[in-house]
Amino acid sequence: MEERTIFHKIRDKEIPASIVYEDDEVLAFKDIHPKAATHLLFIPKHFVPSIADLTPATAHIPGMLILKAQKFAEQKGIRGYKLTFHVGAGGGQEVFYLHLHFLSEEQL
Ligand code: AMP
Repeated sequence: MEERTIFHKIRDKEIPASIVYEDDEVLAFKDIHPKAATHLLFIPKHFVPSIADLTPATAHIPGMLILKAQKFAEQKGIRGYKLTFHVGAGGGQEVFYLHLHFLSEEQL
């Protein structure tokens, strides 16, 4: 059985989060320790631990997350933002459930 991370529990609504967007493929919520005026995390509903674990079958997921973030920003009128993936412990990844950091100095 896969190890369940805190993001599994947020995805499955077992623990609360400030959810800002959800559809069949992704969930986006506010980072609990924001490093910008707006700091969101986009996670796929389909679990992948890290960019380091991608395979041809899951390689579309990062692009899908980026597209969701782009559409979200457009809808909210956020014009400038940074998108980041932390990869592996050496890359600063603490939660091993693939996620896209969305940071902006514009308020949501
Ligand atoms: P990373 O270093 O890329 O693994 O980032 C993990 C991020 O998850 C950090 O920025 C944390 O502040 C954030 N985080 C951890 N627990 C929670 C939580 N329960 N709700 C929202 N964000 C969280």
